[in-house]
Amino acid sequence: MKLYIVATPIGNLEDISFRAIRILNEVDLVLCEDTRVTKILLERYEIKKPILSYHQHSKLQKIDYIINLLKEGKNLALVSDAGTPGISDPGQRLIGKVLEELGGEIKIEPIPGPNAAIAALSISGFDTDEFLFLGFPPHKKGRQTFFVNILEESQKRTVVFYESTHRIIKALEQLDSLLQTKNYKLKTDLMVCRELTKKFETIYRGTPSEVLEKLRGGIIKGEFVVIIKSNIKN
Ligand code: SAM
Repeated sequence: MKLYIVATPIGNLEDISFRAIRILNEVDLVLCEDTRVTKILLERYEIKKPILSYHQHSKLQKIDYIINLLKEGKNLALVSDAGTPGISDPGQRLIGKVLEELGGEIKIEPIPGPNAAIAALSISGFDTDEFLFLGFPPHKKGRQTFFVNILEESQKRTVVFYESTHRIIKALEQLDSLLQTKNYKLKTDLMVCRELTKKFETIYRGTPSEVLEKLRGGIIKGEFVVIIKSNIKN
């Protein structure tokens, strides 16, 4: 009985390890978020395995079903739509429940690979000895506090967060207006990565207002990672 947490590409289907492919070929069942997304990956590598969707809104019955499969001795692989399962995606809830139910009986094994935050950090040039990963900003309640916190934290360490197409401009506007209105004496550098590893990969660097200008002049579509670091102005 094993649950493998298998990292898959964040865009470019070549970004998958030999071990990930072997494990996906060996398990009894692949748990995924969106079956349409995972089918594309499995077809690309000619992996013929049953798949079962598991997502944010999955009912407890589905989790029980998955836990029973593990109890029966089945080996399962969990993948997400992109990157490393359990990092800002529904995988973490499933892993938590499996541990609650099966505790020490189950071996949960990571099959490491791509992650959007780490890929972005790797090209940032910012100090990565210490960084703070904050996942997605809240949509409404707590959103302003989230950005105030970012500006505070970014004076101490590099901060990374994810944002969706719909809210990326709003996020940068919020950061920019906080920098102006709060009268922070900060030099804030941003890196915004759009569509990493994909055809339209674009990297924007500069202050929040500079990046905003560049983004507004381009196509605001796709997936985004934002990295931010501030220094106090002398
Ligand atoms: N588990 C994933 C990982 O390991 O990176 C993250 C899942 S989270 C639900 C999805 C978010 O990750 C997107 O909204 C975007 O912010 C970021 N992301 C995923 N793929 C990306 C890519 N190719 N380029 C930029 N950001 C990406």
